Amino acid sequence: MSDFESVVYETPAEHVARIVLNRPETRNAQDTKLLYELNAAFDRAAQDDAIKVIILAANGPHFSSGHDLREPNVYEKMSEFDTVGTWCGFTCAGAERQMAREKEIYIGFCERWRNIPKPTLAAVQGKVIAGGLMLIWPCDIIIASDDAQFCDPVVNFGIGGVEFFAHPWEVGARKAKEMLFTSDWLSVEEAKQLGMVNQIVPREKLDETVLAMAQKIAKKSLFALKLTKEAVNVAEDAQGRVQSMQTSFALHQLAHTHWLEQYGVLLDPTGLPPETAKALGAKLKQKET
Ligand code: ZN
Repeated sequence: MSDFESVVYETPAEHVARIVLNRPETRNAQDTKLLYELNAAFDRAAQDDAIKVIILAANGPHFSSGHDLREPNVYEKMSEFDTVGTWCGFTCAGAERQMAREKEIYIGFCERWRNIPKPTLAAVQGKVIAGGLMLIWPCDIIIASDDAQFCDPVVNFGIGGVEFFAHPWEVGARKAKEMLFTSDWLSVEEAKQLGMVNQIVPREKLDETVLAMAQKIAKKSLFALKLTKEAVNVAEDAQGRVQSMQTSFALHQLAHTHWLEQYGVLLDPTGLPPETAKALGAKLKQKET
């Protein structure tokens, strides 16, 4: 059924597709291939008229540890995949190529997935870190197990928040500032209180609960479901979501460019574990100013 490697595509029930992140040995760290396969899997489910509801799940104890920071030659790797957006310049120099890559595979993919005209349900367990949030936030419904916890710690690395900056929309402005300023974990209970998580279930009940909800939704008219989704999404967008996230994305690029100029890497290496900073090739001696 599945011709992917980093994700599994399956149809566990009539009208329901399930896409499962399948790099548990890396805690489902997202490299370029995983993201393109995930995008292709979402497209497959979206374009299949027999599918009404899409589940996004993850193998292993943790949903996702975020972007794979150790992936080598990321800009060259972009040529291995058919790009989805119209932005270009993946092999240009400096900030131009970084912005191109992030526009395509981060904010670009997240917006695409958010606007798939079918209900999407995220089944979430364990840790969801930084870029991991960018996989669950575009989904319509988030059901989490009682061991789930959420964190965007990128302020530690000199960046203002992940590329798909939905924090204020997901948890409210004050909590967004707290979680970003402190890099503290957001518990699943608090995430539910704030409206980011729909339901909390015991870990062993996660898959069956999500599948049962998917099947319940799949009994309804797909046309009614897609109109409903569009109506709710437009309500958020009418409040300026898209414009504010474009500004946040530009600020995010400014931060990458700053650290690139100062240390030769995209993040503040003094906030990274030393071995990660070394693997990234950081020039740790600060530039004279
Ligand atoms: Zn970035």
